[in-house]
Amino acid sequence: SKPHNKLHIYFLPMTSHGHVIPMVDMARLFAGRGVKATLILTPLSAALVSKTIDRDRELGLEITIRLIDFPSAEVGLPEAIENHSSVTSPEMSQKIYKATVLLQQPVENLLEEESPDCLVADVYFPWASDVATKRGIPRLIFHGTSAYALSVHHILSQQKPYKNIESDTQVFVVTDLPNNIMMTRQQLPDHMRDGTENHLTKLMEKIMEAEMTSYGVVINSFHELEPAYSKLYSEVIGRKVWHVGPVSLCNKDNEDKARRGSKISLSEHESLTWLDSKKPNSVLYVCFGSLSIFSNVQLLEIAMGLENSGQEFIWVVRKEKKTKEDKNREEWLPEGFEKRLEGKGFIIRGWAPQVLILDHAAIGGFMTHCGWNSTLEGVTAGVPLIAWPLFADQFYNETLVTDILRTGVGVGAKEWCRWPDENRIYVTRKDIEKAVVQLMVGEEAEENRSRARALGEMAKKAVQKGGSSYNYLSALLEELKLNSN
Ligand code: UDP
Repeated sequence: SKPHNKLHIYFLPMTSHGHVIPMVDMARLFAGRGVKATLILTPLSAALVSKTIDRDRELGLEITIRLIDFPSAEVGLPEAIENHSSVTSPEMSQKIYKATVLLQQPVENLLEEESPDCLVADVYFPWASDVATKRGIPRLIFHGTSAYALSVHHILSQQKPYKNIESDTQVFVVTDLPNNIMMTRQQLPDHMRDGTENHLTKLMEKIMEAEMTSYGVVINSFHELEPAYSKLYSEVIGRKVWHVGPVSLCNKDNEDKARRGSKISLSEHESLTWLDSKKPNSVLYVCFGSLSIFSNVQLLEIAMGLENSGQEFIWVVRKEKKTKEDKNREEWLPEGFEKRLEGKGFIIRGWAPQVLILDHAAIGGFMTHCGWNSTLEGVTAGVPLIAWPLFADQFYNETLVTDILRTGVGVGAKEWCRWPDENRIYVTRKDIEKAVVQLMVGEEAEENRSRARALGEMAKKAVQKGGSSYNYLSALLEELKLNSN
């Protein structure tokens, strides 16, 4: 034991936007509650957040970045590819996971040098539990998803209801959950679908083991959103679970919100001034996170679906104009689209200031891939959602939104789609148009919207003094203090 009164906590995120962004917010949240926070980042991630961290420090938060190199060359990746958003093939993805294993030694060295009191590490570093045990400190897991998705995943893995059905498209019920939910096998990861083993299945096994031996789990969600699942998940893993979110709410000023996960400053985002001229709840925001890949034929279908819906929209497309030809004619965009829809539709190529857009009064709906951060940011902004899940936990999150919270509609995405077929249309323009109209106009839309609004209020209350997430964090910090003495 050592005499000190300030807890020192290490935060180690996985190197993708969907994990770095909430982990940085979490470090900021903890620092705001009197913790000395150290973020362990690779250079590319650090470059995205160092400006906001500098601002935090000026405001008196004790928050530091320690850099570790990402071993791109060692695993055969091109230089400066460490973020999943630049990954375009399963082979590259596998190399990134390989590299994460090599981060163990540098992290151990840092821990030895600074002896923090606790390590909050992303779930993708199962070795972090061993490293923490070696140093005699607790390791907390950060999953980046909901207790709901984690519960469904665990129950599915235990009971395997997907095994006793005839086809990938046959609907089965997942029982033994607080709510029965319906799924098909084609919405599940490979190993559940066809029993294939790959680098991810092995990693998943390790992750589940590490979960059981960790000190507990911190979740970016709030208790009122998923009370039954918070309890269930904690029971299933036999570990404590702390809901401390929505962590996005700890960004207080607009410049920090704009820079969340990017170097682009507030004044460079034209979409926000564009929104200023729009009526309340009139614009649909369309964005599929930082990893999604769409083929040109599917993007064209989205464009036509949006246009045919007659609704106004902001659409974030991750394809940036690269070449001169691109500039003249982007294959995925219907001829004359932008001109035709001038004033009605706004395309953002690259990175959007998502939380600021969602918070804008003009936004009346959000078409999302149901990545957990996006889902929760939509919930927090009190906006109804169109669910278009692609892969990972996204199909679980869809059922949370459409069946349990009932604050949105599904677009009808039927199957897991991480590496899409170039020539296939997964969701048709007709289905897109239908979902957009269903979400934006009419009685059902109003009902969804009012439920969404109520949830948004709850989210904001949860992080205020005396709210559930506030209290969870107090309890966690108390416990860690006792532990460190
Ligand atoms: N995001 C953003 N602008 C974009 C795309 C994504 O700010 O143009 C943020 C979004 O607000 C969220 C994160 O990136 O915090 C994406 O995480 P999510 O879990 O939704 O999806 P992933 O990218 O991991 O699939």
